[in-house]
Amino acid sequence: DHVLTQDGLIAKESLLYPFEERGLQFGDGVYEVIRIYQGKYDLLEEHIDRLFRSAEAIRLEVPFMKDELITSLQKLTDRNDVQTDAKLYLQVTRGSAPREHSFPDVPSNFYAYIEQSDRPVSLLQHGVRAILADDIRWDLCYIKSLNLLPNILAKQTAKEKGAFEAILHKQGIVTEGSSSNVFMIKGQILYTHPAADNILHGCVRKKVLALASRAGLQVAETAFTIDQLLHADEIFITSTTSEIMPIIEVEGKTISNGVPGDKTRVLQRAYENESGIHATA
Ligand code: PLP
Repeated sequence: DHVLTQDGLIAKESLLYPFEERGLQFGDGVYEVIRIYQGKYDLLEEHIDRLFRSAEAIRLEVPFMKDELITSLQKLTDRNDVQTDAKLYLQVTRGSAPREHSFPDVPSNFYAYIEQSDRPVSLLQHGVRAILADDIRWDLCYIKSLNLLPNILAKQTAKEKGAFEAILHKQGIVTEGSSSNVFMIKGQILYTHPAADNILHGCVRKKVLALASRAGLQVAETAFTIDQLLHADEIFITSTTSEIMPIIEVEGKTISNGVPGDKTRVLQRAYENESGIHATA
């Protein structure tokens, strides 16, 4: 297997970093996770655009031009002969240097690797449970930063309670999931939190909003409360790896009779068509 670095493609085994690395010591970096369906990237440009937005927001240099990066990522799937469903993980950090908070004058570190990753077909068909958790994160969650402590703590609590995701809320307002965006349907309206600074602007979120009219839904990028969420007709979360995942229970309360809602199912179909996915969930 090969990985992509700032110095080009290298064998995975030869990727080594010193212990004084900004990503390791400060979480000083940004990342992306990109879906690969049958060897082809999904929403590649959207992810690369977001990577550059995140990097710019923390004054971090990406050691590639956008076009150059896209070409290099294509070479990576070619070199590894990726044909199946997989995902790419990519991160950029502020480099390797003696530990000091202020920025060092060294080049950024970059790596990207691909891992086999099946679609969660059964969960997409049957839906999953969620819990609620306080959103204790900072104000700039639109930056896809390596600092994920609040997210992993919330996800771990969900796991321990037998749930798939933790739905985060700030002062009673639903923001997003620990690693997903949250949507609810009430009547003919599809609600999700506006793409403000305090949530990640999900690539799947954007695609779902563009597909909503196919399910006869009007879009409202309007924040909603926990109480509104618990009284929704249908709820789902979105992410690169979870696609459009139906939520059938929140904090022990059954949603849409405990089965994925009809409109959610229509959106799943539309999403599969758009992404050129053949096996249906
Ligand atoms: N929100 C958070 C906090 C995330 O970590 C993610 C990533 O998976 C998302 C939302 C969904 O973003 P995307 O649809 O680009 O995968």
